[in-house]
Amino acid sequence: MRDVVPEELLRDSAEDLYENAPVAYLTSVLDGTLVRVNQTLLRWTGYEREELVGRKRLLDLLPPGARIYYETHYAPLLQMQGEVREIALELVRADGTRLPVLMNSTLVADEAGKPRAVRTTAFDASERRRYERELLAARADAESRARAAHALEHIAEGVVLIGDEGEIQLMNHAAETIFDVSAAAAVSRQATEALDGWEGIATRVAIAGDDEAQVAHVVPVRRDRGEAWLSVTAAQAGAAVVYTIRDVTGEHRLDQVRSDLVAIVSHELRTPLTGALGAAQTLQGRYDDLPEPQRLALVSMIVEQSQRLEKVLDQILLASQIDENVFDTQLQSVDCTEVLDAVVRGVGPDVRTRIVVETETGLVVRADLDRLRQVVANLVDNALKYSLGQVRLAATLREVRVRITVSDDGPGIPEGDRDRVFEKFFRLDPAQRSGVGGTGLGLYIARELTERMDGRIGLLSRERGTTFFVDLPRAEAPST
Ligand code: ADP
Repeated sequence: MRDVVPEELLRDSAEDLYENAPVAYLTSVLDGTLVRVNQTLLRWTGYEREELVGRKRLLDLLPPGARIYYETHYAPLLQMQGEVREIALELVRADGTRLPVLMNSTLVADEAGKPRAVRTTAFDASERRRYERELLAARADAESRARAAHALEHIAEGVVLIGDEGEIQLMNHAAETIFDVSAAAAVSRQATEALDGWEGIATRVAIAGDDEAQVAHVVPVRRDRGEAWLSVTAAQAGAAVVYTIRDVTGEHRLDQVRSDLVAIVSHELRTPLTGALGAAQTLQGRYDDLPEPQRLALVSMIVEQSQRLEKVLDQILLASQIDENVFDTQLQSVDCTEVLDAVVRGVGPDVRTRIVVETETGLVVRADLDRLRQVVANLVDNALKYSLGQVRLAATLREVRVRITVSDDGPGIPEGDRDRVFEKFFRLDPAQRSGVGGTGLGLYIARELTERMDGRIGLLSRERGTTFFVDLPRAEAPST
């Protein structure tokens, strides 16, 4: 059933509708003078009827800029078309403030078709204007966010945003590279779970407040791919913390290499030099007083220490050639027995007796003879240096490869250092290597040379003793 609407409400007069309609009505004669306006217009603009009717023109209600537009466009259009639709303008209120409106005007003609008046309606467009402004502001905001996001993706520094629950809220491309994880896989997970080494960063890096200067901390981080050094700053950003991260591993390594080199030069070169110089000076000063055997002993000492010097210098030189990739390898068929024999021959006669060779005959690998000899000689040198007992040297066939092993009964190498011994300059701490000298370059060189011959080097170390192995591709026997 329909609601019954009271009679008096339906009996609204046309006058009332005109006066209180939700639009403003303005009627003007052809010179523009207002002759009639409704109550809505008065309410919206704050004018009294007497102030407008017969006194002001429609034009007078417009701000200066809009007046020009009215005269150059609105009025001519009205003349030509008889009507103008939906033009966005502003009306100036009595107090000077402005009201955005959408205006429509129609030319009213008399019975003879002669234009007599203009009827204008104005809709309050402030809502719509606000909406448009908000829309524009929102668009500008979105654009500036998009620009910021674009910049964030392209800066070299890693940026990670961590929420107050320790969860990753955002990470940029550089951060993905540093931590070797995709943002898709990491975002919204706990940083300590998703990012290698985050715990160290979170505990060491102080979070700067709003007005505080950010201080960068360099934090070592252990990752699957080896140790990295990250320079990190952190700043509070609302409830979250924004971390800026730079990978400074390269710079750090360079510093490390420099100081390692200084350490070697000062110790490993000075020790033999002092020995050789001391012996030479003794010979020089007391040559005639010394019995023959002592003179010979001093000469042997000079030779020995000079050889040690030469070895250290050779290692430094070779390591730098490796780094700069300025040496070549000539791969050919090489008989393992020949290599192992050459290595044994190169060892001093006093320790040679400690070496036992057990090799199958006829094992041929694809390698560079000199380089392979160098690799095995380094391993044998270490085995002799770091142990006191027998050193076993062997070559065995393993499917398509040949494995050369060097085993000793020395102190072994702790589990955690088995990869690190191949790093440049790395040496176990003095207690573990019992004061034996060295550059920390031997195994680095051995690994680099082996890999350049498509081989693989590694070690097996138990409670006591170490076995280093070198696997190389098997080759056809050299044609004779
Ligand atoms: P170094 O000149 O110090 O011998 P290397 O690169 O040849 O340098 O070896 C690196 C480190 O690995 C050594 O300093 C030593 O601590 C350890 N190491 C190498 N070979 C052995 C081995 N056979 N037994 C025990 N430790 C070893």
